[in-house]
Amino acid sequence: MILDMFSLKGKVAVVTGANTGLGQGMCVALAQAGADVVGVARRDCDETSKLVEENGARFLQIKADLSSMEPIEQIIKETVEHFGHMDILVNNAGIIKRNDAIDYTEEEWDSVVFINQKFTFFLCQAAAKQFIAQKSGGKIINIASMLSYQGGIRVPSYTASKSAVLGLTRAMANEWAQYNINVNGIAPGYMATNNTEALRNDDGRNEEILSRIPAKRWGTPQDMAGAVVYLASAASDYVSGFTLAVDGGWLAR
Ligand code: NAP
Repeated sequence: MILDMFSLKGKVAVVTGANTGLGQGMCVALAQAGADVVGVARRDCDETSKLVEENGARFLQIKADLSSMEPIEQIIKETVEHFGHMDILVNNAGIIKRNDAIDYTEEEWDSVVFINQKFTFFLCQAAAKQFIAQKSGGKIINIASMLSYQGGIRVPSYTASKSAVLGLTRAMANEWAQYNINVNGIAPGYMATNNTEALRNDDGRNEEILSRIPAKRWGTPQDMAGAVVYLASAASDYVSGFTLAVDGGWLAR
């Protein structure tokens, strides 16, 4: 029946940036839908592990700093060694660096574009190779942003990389749909996590942002739950290359 299509029982989901924020929220949602979870993070994921296990799923942490290409092979290898297969990848880890465009440095550009764009693409590629070898199909969900659609202010490398995530999601979907691999994205709006702490602590910007959100509140990691489970499940098998906004109406204005 229809709700069975949303079940992730027997599936293994890899989530990057699993220790906090939206990544942690999505780990919990995937576990609640029945998936075992591999959390990739450079810090301990004790809290996420506890939340996943409380929901009856198994949790494996892979400790990795995603600021080089090195961990890509390790992530797929350890997942498959531990659970026997991999079915879902959520590319969530990402960073933002704020500075005026006129003063923006090469480091601020390279570090952000590396993790948000390059690492995301090559981890998708490694996951797709695994899905093709398994002959199982698979689900890839890339975390985009409002700045996949808009220019933003003082975050040029973030805008560039998140715009690329939207385009790459389409490009990969076009090539891999034939293998029953669904590549889709989620574009969160303004969510209350570490990523937006500076904005929320700036009274002027906080007020400005809240007044433009039709829902009149910041989003939460729990707000990602429905979208990630949908895109990870059989319920979205014919959805390909699309990025779904979870934004309290921001883009509709
Ligand atoms: P967050 O709390 O800052 O989480 C980012 C995650 O990425 C953290 O787990 C962080 O680990 C991890 N990460 C960053 N650099 C890493 C590295 N070199 N190696 C390993 N892990 C690394 O922010 P968030 O809001 O949950 O962000 C999650 C995703 O949503 C990001 O892609 C972000 O761009 C996107 N997003 C967020 C919003 C928002 O309003 N919050 C809006 C649109 C899109 P550490 O804790 O160790 O830093």
